[in-house]
Amino acid sequence: MLTYEQALQEIRTEGARFERVSETINCADALGRVLSHALQAGFDLPRFNNSAVDGYGVLVEDLVSAAQDNQIELIFDGEVAAGADPASLAERALAPGHCLRILTGAPVPESVEAVVMKEYCRIIEAADGAPAKIAFATRTKIGENIRMQGEEVEQGTSVLAPGMAVSPPVIGLLATLGLSEVQVYKQARFAVVATGDELVEPAPGVQLSGAQIYNSNTPALVAALRCLNVREIKALHCLDDRAETLAVLTEALAASDVVLTLGGVSVGERDFVKEAFEELGVRTVFWRVAVKPGKPVYFGVIEKGDRVEKLIFGLPGNPVSALITFNLFVKPALKIIQGLRQKSARITTARLTRNLQKKAGRLDFVRGTLASAADGSLTAAATSGQESHMLTGLAAADCLMLFPQESEFLAEGAAISVQLLNWHD
Ligand code: AMP
Ligand code: MG
Repeated sequence: MLTYEQALQEIRTEGARFERVSETINCADALGRVLSHALQAGFDLPRFNNSAVDGYGVLVEDLVSAAQDNQIELIFDGEVAAGADPASLAERALAPGHCLRILTGAPVPESVEAVVMKEYCRIIEAADGAPAKIAFATRTKIGENIRMQGEEVEQGTSVLAPGMAVSPPVIGLLATLGLSEVQVYKQARFAVVATGDELVEPAPGVQLSGAQIYNSNTPALVAALRCLNVREIKALHCLDDRAETLAVLTEALAASDVVLTLGGVSVGERDFVKEAFEELGVRTVFWRVAVKPGKPVYFGVIEKGDRVEKLIFGLPGNPVSALITFNLFVKPALKIIQGLRQKSARITTARLTRNLQKKAGRLDFVRGTLASAADGSLTAAATSGQESHMLTGLAAADCLMLFPQESEFLAEGAAISVQLLNWHD
């Protein structure tokens, strides 16, 4: 049986062979997508020298002796507001002994050497109440409070790299650069196939009879995909019947780039999924990994030439196993085929609040909650309900605690690696 790390390596290898396609979309729809191309700035950022504050533009020499108890008065020459035409500023050359009010973001005329924050200035009014002079209570230095043209990014240099997720600041940057469209990787289409004769779809008025249960995996897995911005998801159900499994999986494969099956991948007499995939031309990459929960997990690919065309995951049917194997295997695969640069899960360490015990042989992903101890360190506590059918224990968790494969006992206070359970990342 593969270790988790070995299984991940297989996923990376196969995922890297998946052919990504780029498309151009509106920036307004790009949140959560992944940039497929580098982006260069079409102009300098900032595009023109402008003021970082609301204040007064001055010549530094005029204020060398200014201080709280030695205020210096300069003649007020009027105001430059945000949006003022920088070309018109040429006439506003500052003469010694004069100053200009300049508002935040307004262009700073060439002659202005610094902008003094208005908090250090006092307006001296003329008889008609209009500002006549400004008294300065501080000195300044060349360039103070002036944002220089190109200081952030020079025209033609790269601002965004392929593989970056489109986040709110990236959306802001695209708009800053005047872009309304952006090139991103096409999103993978998913099929989610629930298996089992016992499953009933929850709906108003639908009652269970006998040993039926509601299908909780489909909505949970669809939600997990939606958290990762997957939008095209085909949900299917098949009974535990060989012919039907073949038919439904054929439909799933035709409709998607990634197929997730739920259940039916264990060693039961009626677990037809793996066999059906193989019959449909899927190459098995691995089946069974030394993790808990989730040991029966299956991964295969459909190849076309030297490319991988489709990824197939057989996730175990137990609801916790399905969601955890989604996190452990599907998420990294999705990041790779989406072209995301940030691929690995975020891991930190925490101290155990209680002893942990298990058998050697599998890496346990214990559902836990993190808290800050009085000394500022992190602690991790297992939630109650750790069995693989107990969704309550996962619902209450905000992290997975990695109890190493061969380890059998970890004492209270010991450090343990934890993976944050962030469904969105
Ligand atoms: P299996 O892997 O098909 O043997 O399923 C393992 C366990 O998970 C069984 O108790 C199933 O009833 C349960 N299970 C399988 N699929 C689902 C589902 N879609 N929703 C809820 N429970 C499920
Ligand atoms: Mg089943």
